[in-house]
Amino acid sequence: MISNTTTPRGELKTHTVLIVGGGAAGISVAASIHKRDRNLDIAIIEPATRHHYQPGWTMVGGGVFRPEVTSKAMSEVMPSFVSWYQKGVTAVNQDIHQVELDDGSSIGYEALVLAPGLELNWGGIEGLETALGSNGVTSNYREGMASYTWDMVQNLKRGRALFTQPPMPIKCAGAPQKAMYLSSDYWLRHGVLNDLDVQFHNAGAVLFGVPDYVPALEAYIEKYGIDVNFQSTLVAVNGPARTAVFRSNDGDGNSQEREVEFDMLHAVPPQRAPRFIRESALANEGGWLDLEDDTLRHKTYPDIFGLGDVSGTGNAKTAAAVRKQAPVVAENLIASLRNQPLRAAYLGYGSCPLTVENGKIVLAEFGYGGVLQPSFPRWINDGTKATRAAWWLKAKQLPALYWHGMLKGHEWLASPAVRSPKD
Ligand SMILES: Cc1cc2nc3c(=O)[nH]c(=O)nc-3n(C[C@H](O)[C@H](O)[C@H](O)COP(=O)(O)OP(=O)(O)OC[C@H]3O[C@@H](n4cnc5c(N)ncnc54)[C@H](O)[C@@H]3O)c2cc1C
Repeated sequence: MISNTTTPRGELKTHTVLIVGGGAAGISVAASIHKRDRNLDIAIIEPATRHHYQPGWTMVGGGVFRPEVTSKAMSEVMPSFVSWYQKGVTAVNQDIHQVELDDGSSIGYEALVLAPGLELNWGGIEGLETALGSNGVTSNYREGMASYTWDMVQNLKRGRALFTQPPMPIKCAGAPQKAMYLSSDYWLRHGVLNDLDVQFHNAGAVLFGVPDYVPALEAYIEKYGIDVNFQSTLVAVNGPARTAVFRSNDGDGNSQEREVEFDMLHAVPPQRAPRFIRESALANEGGWLDLEDDTLRHKTYPDIFGLGDVSGTGNAKTAAAVRKQAPVVAENLIASLRNQPLRAAYLGYGSCPLTVENGKIVLAEFGYGGVLQPSFPRWINDGTKATRAAWWLKAKQLPALYWHGMLKGHEWLASPAVRSPKD
């Protein structure tokens, strides 16, 4: 039910637990908190009318999922036990335990959970936002645009296809490549790959941040004949002229720009925390929410917790990370409300199912410092190799697990680690 920010007598509304954001993280953590204490008063502030299963957008772009399966009305996923404010937060006033909303009103809290995700900075690449959706310029990161990617892939028979990756951190760091591999696989199967010049332009210096997964990816780069350009950052796009400008660095601090013509461009924008976090006392040096790595409690304000893409913790920004974070925040937040020590620990788990071809996935699963954290023994799935088992998991199991498991507080393979008493 949608709520008002003041009581009938005009007093400030206050909730025991106030959650900002009703995405993967906000809904999951509400469910995990409620599962542990059914009497807690919980509210969610979320302006959007639709909730998206973003991991499905890669599959839409590859022609595997229909777009409808990746989105539901927000009212369908919003738990019945929360008060829902359909507004946006513009500021957190942590010293007086209140958040400000975009209609000028405020709401108070005893404990605050920040889960507003991240901001896609489309304006960070000149001309990109206006170019999107025509002249072959697309992005699976844009709501509703993965279908256009799939149209482009099916219609491209010759010419040049560019795939770009911005500087880290971004959500699902493998997703720019996933689009490229699925597209190349389609072109290979339809006998047109030899007539296409496929280029990958990566602002970073490596194919993937965890070395164990790189050999499997390199094998696909070779198979598809992809021209890989490291430290090559997309800085401008001209849709009608079908040209993209890349800035590259030579390692001695010298940079140069070059223009490349394209027939298709799959672009991914640079990413940052929402402004009300990035420009506040809650942010770390990089502008992300300044959380303790293990407890997910704010480093300075003990009644504030956070999870999901906004977090400044060093994990991969994925829904898979949220699956493990939500129970940790739920346990520690309840302990904090009861003045008990925080015992639950998040070890940095994140997962990136790299769709290297239609039917096979390299299932990267790792925690802080790139330590591998596979969910399955090797005989079921070897994450460093492309496997059919991992494809089956992503294509057949994970969407249902998301909608009916994670968002409902069923914590599959997500029991929190326990902190040792000295921590
Ligand atoms: C193309 C693509 C492919 C991906 N592939 C995978 C994958 O294969 N596996 C995987 O695990 N993850 C994947 N991800 C990443 C995954 O979708 C995110 O990590 C996950 O959604 C993060 O959850 P979140 O709740 O932090 O952010 P979101 O799910 O983005 O939700 C944030 C919510 O906060 C709300 N909000 C924003 N600002 C405010 C405000 N000021 N006030 C109130 N509410 C606000 C928004 O409306 C939104 O509903 C992919 C993402 C993309 C784009």
